[in-house]
Amino acid sequence: MTIVTRFAPSPTGTLHVGNIRTALNNWLLARRHGGRFLLRIDDTDAERSREEHVHAIRADLAWLGLDYDDEQRQSARFAIYQAAMDRLIADGRVYRCYETQAELDLRRKVLLSRGLPPIYDRAALNLTDADHAARAAAGEAPHWRFLLDHDTQITWDDGIRGPQTFDPRTMSDPVVRRADGSWLYMLPSVIDDIAMGVTDVLRGEDHVSNTATQVQMFQALGDHMPHFAHAALLTGTEGKLSKRLGSLGVAELRESGIEPEALIALLARLGTSDPVDPALDADHLAGAFDLSRFGRAPARFDELELERVNAGVIHRLPFARVADRLPAGMDEATWLTIRPNLTRVSEAADWWQVIKGPIAAPDFDAETRAFLTEAAACAATSDWTQDPWSALTAMLKDRTGRKGKPLFLPLRQALTGMDHGPDMKALLPLIGRDEALARLLT
Ligand code: GLU
Repeated sequence: MTIVTRFAPSPTGTLHVGNIRTALNNWLLARRHGGRFLLRIDDTDAERSREEHVHAIRADLAWLGLDYDDEQRQSARFAIYQAAMDRLIADGRVYRCYETQAELDLRRKVLLSRGLPPIYDRAALNLTDADHAARAAAGEAPHWRFLLDHDTQITWDDGIRGPQTFDPRTMSDPVVRRADGSWLYMLPSVIDDIAMGVTDVLRGEDHVSNTATQVQMFQALGDHMPHFAHAALLTGTEGKLSKRLGSLGVAELRESGIEPEALIALLARLGTSDPVDPALDADHLAGAFDLSRFGRAPARFDELELERVNAGVIHRLPFARVADRLPAGMDEATWLTIRPNLTRVSEAADWWQVIKGPIAAPDFDAETRAFLTEAAACAATSDWTQDPWSALTAMLKDRTGRKGKPLFLPLRQALTGMDHGPDMKALLPLIGRDEALARLLT
């Protein structure tokens, strides 16, 4: 059987780390098994859905490298939902209700005050045809609830949480369609998962209770039942994910210099027992994707770890991947030289400045100045064709008797204006003889 997964964002905002992780896990699962990964835009809520968010979702997935095999939009599928709804009406599995929110709130309060679970009392099931006709005549449109089957325990074997059991008697019949005709997410999602042959629904733990009601919707509509798996929610390093971290989106991450590979490498491992490895690209991660590696403990999202993974990714990025983001004129040799010193690709500009100058050298004392003058004299005659740094330092060592730090550090400081940085062996040829002489003498 071909694995089919889907990512089903509502375009009411941009993607944040939590739903990027959901998208990634579904992509990994599909790619792991040579299956299909679908993008489903859940835009049944016309009021809150925005076309700009649809564009942003597509762009974010493209930036992350999460390619999808097909895209569907719920707003184009209302006729299909209506047909399924008609069947459920005929089967008596959805029913009309008229309670206002205020009425429902009041009933909930009464139930709670009696220590009873605040579930819908199904009062509308007692309405007669005449009652409905009277409501219609008064211009009152119903909203619709799905009738849970109280006699069938809800069970599924969750891919992460293990066997799950829910008693439908403890749950309210969910509203599936509002009085204005708009659809709530739950039923269309089930209809789509059936129609699109979705085999695996992998989403966050916050959907567990939705799954409980959706299991009965799947049963009511046929015999297709996907595998469900609910990943533990993301938390911050010290408990709950902060609002800021939780709402971090692709745009902010990209602007702050995070590479998609870093985000993918980290998010793919969150909540699992596997170490994060910046060397692993999405295809390698897909090869190892295994739901049994996911634990039930909250998955900690640590920004510092993201920074570390990001640096690890950058230290491996080939020139071709970054060429268009580097300062004009920077070639591959330069990129490979400075790459190990970067935590952000944008810092390449700082090293480009160091190479091209002008640089601000520190104030040296007289003794160091004399040493640097000697260095300039050596640099003027030493061999620059092969390995100018080794040639220069060997000659200088001979002439001054200095070695180790007293030999190398003033040179680095005079030549780069810094105490540390890329390997001087690779850097010096990039600076070039004329510029090096000038820097040693100022
Ligand atoms: N549109 C729903 C959401 O974003 C989809 C949930 C799901 O079934 O994966 O929460």
